[in-house]
Amino acid sequence: MSQIRAVKLEVINTGTELLLGNTLNTHGAWFGRELFKLGLRISRQTTVPDGDAIRDSLQEALGRADAVIVTGGLGPTSDDLTREITAEVLGLELITDEAALRSLEGFFALRGRPMVDANLKQALCPVGADILPNANGTAPGIYVPPRLNGRSNCAVFLLPGPPRELYPMYHAEVVPRLRALAGVEKLHQALVLKFTGIGESDFHQGIDARLAEVPGLEYGYCAHIGEVDLRLIGDEEALEKGRKITLERFGSYLISDDESSLEATVVRLLKERGMSFATAESCTGGLVANRITNVPGASEVFTHGFVTYANAAKTGMLGVSAQDIETHGAVSEVVARAMADGALEKSGADIAVSVTGIAGPGGGSEEKPVGTGWIAVAVRGGQTEAFSVFHPRNRKDFKLAVSQAALEAVRRRLKARLS
Ligand code: ATP
Ligand code: MG
Repeated sequence: MSQIRAVKLEVINTGTELLLGNTLNTHGAWFGRELFKLGLRISRQTTVPDGDAIRDSLQEALGRADAVIVTGGLGPTSDDLTREITAEVLGLELITDEAALRSLEGFFALRGRPMVDANLKQALCPVGADILPNANGTAPGIYVPPRLNGRSNCAVFLLPGPPRELYPMYHAEVVPRLRALAGVEKLHQALVLKFTGIGESDFHQGIDARLAEVPGLEYGYCAHIGEVDLRLIGDEEALEKGRKITLERFGSYLISDDESSLEATVVRLLKERGMSFATAESCTGGLVANRITNVPGASEVFTHGFVTYANAAKTGMLGVSAQDIETHGAVSEVVARAMADGALEKSGADIAVSVTGIAGPGGGSEEKPVGTGWIAVAVRGGQTEAFSVFHPRNRKDFKLAVSQAALEAVRRRLKARLS
């Protein structure tokens, strides 16, 4: 069981653009996720404009936290004051760090650009602090260890604003120092189980009470379209108990326990079974194929994505009978089956899924209201299975919900295949 000292952590994001609403403060969410992987949680997050505004928030945070992470304001311009104000607040003198200066000169020399005087301040470092090298930009980060000057027991990280500079610096320089501060080598504290085919209320009724009885286990749900994530937090023993309780009841709905998406899980199962895959889509307009091809390595298993939106495309590309479309309608079990069978035949793949539905807002009827869809899965040498779905939502959400149901049907069929 890992023992983790509770580290009170605050994040301050600087940037006027964040408060004007021009740029979404993605650092806030990103840090939340990354720190959580280390078993750490942000106790408070503050966003301030560029310039002098950081002074107050830093001073306040130093009084509360064990560690403060500041992003942005390390640039060469006059409103980039993070470095200067932090040194002032901590009562530390700024001196030029020779290694940082050489690295800055090297950065400009490599690009054949002259270095202007404004950049010189980027090599300044508070006495006793560490420079955090920046391989992707001009602004090095700075780490001020706790108790450096007796004024504060708080560690301070100053990190650059641009994500492509921030992310690598965080992993290389910040993570090891945070681990040392938290007092453990390896922190394994969280488990995310992704499910589809069931809703939050099923969990609530099914396992909530039992999870609540596990000592030291914290849990929470996060619902997305066609998917529920269960987040378990605790020590190893609590996590194992939580996992067991959950999977005993809902194991057959599990997409992944490593945060893999449904499409990634489908691609993995196809690879494991050595099967190729094709899609025949009407109402989703290729979304199922798009999601599959977002997964690296999809080319090993994915062969054809037929987007047959018009009836003529369904007959022409997939061999669906015009008579069947006329008799049963394009959104029907008969047509969904014929589309899946046609996709299998025309592509030569081992498994194919089809979707056809009414996204709306027009085109619905009493018998087939907007939101109705049919999905079929055809497997070489097996039965074609079809089922209907009903997702009366806006077009975009409808497409996502139907693509989710289609991928889930394929996942289930693949699971049944070898187990
Ligand atoms: P530094 O001076 O340390 O390099 P900075 O914050 O002064 O960083 P900016 O020019 O303000 O640099 O920002 C660089 C880019 O990074 C901009 O595109 C900006 O919108 C983006 N950025 C900065 N902070 C955030 C944030 N919290 N969330 C998302 N994007 C951000
Ligand atoms: Mg900025």
